[in-house]
Amino acid sequence: QAKSNGRKKVSFFDITMQRKADKRLHIYNCLKSAIAKNELFLHYQPQHMVQSGEIIGVEALVRWHLDGKKLISPAEFIPIAEETDLIIDIGIWVLQAACRQFVEWQSQGIEVPQLSVNVSTRQFHDQNFVDSILMILDETGMDPMQLNLEITESVVIEHAEEAIRTMTDLKNVGVSFAIDDFGAGYSSLSYLKRLPANELKIDRSFIQNIPLNVSDMAIVEAVLAMAKHMGFNVTAEGVESRQQLEFLQRQECSFYQGFYASKPLSAEHLAIYIKRLQG
Ligand code: C2E
Ligand code: MG
Ligand code: MG
Ligand code: MG
Repeated sequence: QAKSNGRKKVSFFDITMQRKADKRLHIYNCLKSAIAKNELFLHYQPQHMVQSGEIIGVEALVRWHLDGKKLISPAEFIPIAEETDLIIDIGIWVLQAACRQFVEWQSQGIEVPQLSVNVSTRQFHDQNFVDSILMILDETGMDPMQLNLEITESVVIEHAEEAIRTMTDLKNVGVSFAIDDFGAGYSSLSYLKRLPANELKIDRSFIQNIPLNVSDMAIVEAVLAMAKHMGFNVTAEGVESRQQLEFLQRQECSFYQGFYASKPLSAEHLAIYIKRLQG
């Protein structure tokens, strides 16, 4: 009895694994044609000054409308795209579309100080990465001083020297860098001090349980103290409540983003949001 139960469990597990693999393959196959079929689009989440509430920028976040129906989360499809060079095409599409939109807002008198774009580790390490950024800046007329690239700590884990060189090349033309999801990965503090980044983005997981979780509050305080000494600005991600914002005000965190201010918005809604702020 026990034995056959055990066997059943094993085969059920295999089926679940198989279904997951099939689903990933299906997503991958659909994703390959998503750009050509115009299924990708962008939302933009406002980023604000913690003390004054002033808008300091927006983060572009990719969205996928599969077959014009189902909305698939980037948390689901980006990791699949990252397993192959598909992420490079998607990354280029995102950069182009975001820069084009940013310049479009400017021509409409909608002042957004900075555009942040997520760059995956595989895309960052592609040999054409720097050239493709330069080309997109040139093509769109985007001011490099207003472009901020969000990378994760994983870019430096294997190829630190190369990563620092790539960042320096782009920094020299005015592009800035933020370390995304800070604290959630394998942080290496020895690399951190060598990275030519301007900003750390504290991972949402450390913010979400404030003010209940005392350890998370201590971690945020420690990151802020360290960042201050190392000359990094800090953005808190995933701020959902007034209490969380008030905590960040007391701790003198520079910037925040999160549902408390706004969810990611379509380009049209972001324009309305900014106009309302501009009064
Ligand atoms: P991320 O770069 O850390 O982006 C922040 C995520 O947190 C976004 O999820 C955003 O919608 C969500 N978020 C913001 N504020 C709140 C909040 O107050 N509460 C909660 N619960 N969530 C909040 P999203 O858009 O689903 O993106 C998930 C991840 O997918 C991103 O995390 C990023 O790693 C990746 N991603 C999204 N767009 C791109 C892209 O264009 N390129 C690459 N390489 N990755 C992308
Ligand atoms: Mg990000
Ligand atoms: Mg900048
Ligand atoms: Mg993040």
